[in-house]
Amino acid sequence: MKDKLHFSVWYLVAAFLIMWAVSALFFAPPPPKQISYSEFKSLLKTNKIEEVVLGDKIIRGILRSEDEKTRQGKEVTTVRVDDPKLIEELEGHSVKFAGRFDESWFKDFLLAWFLPMAIIFIIWMIAIKRMGPESGIMAIGKSKAKIYIDKDTGVTFNDVAGCDEAKEELKEIIDFLKTPQKYLDLGGKIPKGILLVGPPGTGKTLLAKAVAGEAKTPFFALSGSAFVEMFVGVGASRVRDLFAQAQEKAPCIIFIDELDALGKARIAAPIGGGHEERENTLNQLLAEMDGFDTQKGVIIMAATNRPEILDLALLRPGRFDRQVLVDRPDIKGREEILKVHAKGVKLSEAIDLKVLAARTPGFVGADLANVVNEAALLAARRDKKAVEMNDFEEAINRSIAGLEKKRKVMSKKEQEIIAYHETGHALVAESVPHADKVHRISIIPRGIAALGYTLQLPTEDRYLMTKSELLDKLAVFLGGRVAEETVFNEISTGAQNDLQRATDIARSMVKEYGMSERLGPIAFERDRRPLFLELGGIPKSEFSEETAKIIDEEVKKIISETYTRVKEIKKKKRDKLDIIAKLLLEKEVIEGDELRKIINSTPN
Ligand code: ADP
Ligand code: MG
Ligand code: ZN
Repeated sequence: MKDKLHFSVWYLVAAFLIMWAVSALFFAPPPPKQISYSEFKSLLKTNKIEEVVLGDKIIRGILRSEDEKTRQGKEVTTVRVDDPKLIEELEGHSVKFAGRFDESWFKDFLLAWFLPMAIIFIIWMIAIKRMGPESGIMAIGKSKAKIYIDKDTGVTFNDVAGCDEAKEELKEIIDFLKTPQKYLDLGGKIPKGILLVGPPGTGKTLLAKAVAGEAKTPFFALSGSAFVEMFVGVGASRVRDLFAQAQEKAPCIIFIDELDALGKARIAAPIGGGHEERENTLNQLLAEMDGFDTQKGVIIMAATNRPEILDLALLRPGRFDRQVLVDRPDIKGREEILKVHAKGVKLSEAIDLKVLAARTPGFVGADLANVVNEAALLAARRDKKAVEMNDFEEAINRSIAGLEKKRKVMSKKEQEIIAYHETGHALVAESVPHADKVHRISIIPRGIAALGYTLQLPTEDRYLMTKSELLDKLAVFLGGRVAEETVFNEISTGAQNDLQRATDIARSMVKEYGMSERLGPIAFERDRRPLFLELGGIPKSEFSEETAKIIDEEVKKIISETYTRVKEIKKKKRDKLDIIAKLLLEKEVIEGDELRKIINSTPN
């Protein structure tokens, strides 16, 4: 409906312009004859003028019609001269006269002001139209325009594949939206805000729609990045509007996409103008979130792929305190996503989605949807009856080439290194007595930074750690690097963070915990609080240079002893290392229990 509105405004402007041009061309009277003032005076004296219109600068005269001969045009104009007797003379010759604004003034205005303004206005309209149908002139002040409302998204959980954990976590929300009374009767508190966190294209937006679709509730959506380009004062009112509308339609979901665009940490923004609008909008959002309660059945969801830059105020209890990770899909997840998108495509019988899933490590849902579509297009171009395996192969190759430019897609070799590295951590964690149990190993790039990860879960809450526990922790950190070294005889840059953390532990053991035999139980370092008073001056060292040297040596000793220990483990369990790394390459994720089964399978 809004689009139609645009059209009619546009047509109106065009029609007006055309009419104006046409009337100017055809219906304008013939221009009056210009005569000199003296001529005019003589015409006046000979009684040939019937009527005059006096302007500031111009006099327009109409000649008497009975005087057929001298009449060369019905009208004459002349430039007005300072002539104080003019009025008297006009009266004397009984000429009708009237004063009037100068026409030239009007013309000046038209040409110098109105026309350029009109042209600018038209260009502006065109520019705005180009920017997209959403940002038309009608949107100014009408804050509803950018809120996107869906009575029923029509998306279900069946359309979202490969993120079962996220789905599981969202089931509670769906149940609440379906039967809020059940929860309210029991006095249970439902989270107000749920933040979907994950890399781009993993299906966060899709998932939010699916929650609304599953619960069959309206879906109010708003994009954070849309606020940034907004006119001053509109953002906050839009947020107010959104919440007001949503509360009327409860139970429902409010979804704020790309929350990071709106909710960037306030300090992180560069000083200077341009951010006030965003801040006002953010403040309004925070106020609205605090101001209403979930009892009414409104759930706020948001999505971001950069949770680390979000303003902490957004993550406080009562706001987006529940976070759901939507991670890159593993091989099984990718197969399921391919299945979802292949539904509407004619596949040849030889297609094995499992093989395709194995060919696409690091791909997210959006990439896979793209691959299926591309393959179908290729098959059509080749006049095939069904999409075949080689269409998919080519689509994947193209996709990989495109993705390599955009972001990192790992090569086979890199994947192998990462698999051994992560297995290295896990194997040490399961081999030393005091390390936390491994929960999961994965070589799917997680979030943005890490290439793979080994997740350890502490068996109990810890407040104290013994020396042997610290040493085992250190060993686990070194495990990745040593595995790389053992297998490839070479080390990659992937172990950098591990070394940092290993060194931190060793240093703390020596300097803070007094765990070095050579130095004895002396703490060489106070709390490392950044004291503002110390800024500028060199912090006073509490020990001599010689002690510093011994500290360094002790740190080195702890690390190298642990290193040797880890190396021993690796040598002893080399076969396990290979088995697990191979399995990890194949499956991309290994759960802790499965890992332990393999390690304990044959005595080592
Ligand atoms: P995000 O919001 O995380 O950037 P989107 O939800 O916009 O990702 O995903 C873009 C498109 O990619 C979706 O419309 C869908 O077609 C496809 N897609 C992404 N993730 C999945 C998934 N897990 N299952 C099925 N399709 C997906
Ligand atoms: Mg999205
Ligand atoms: Zn590591």
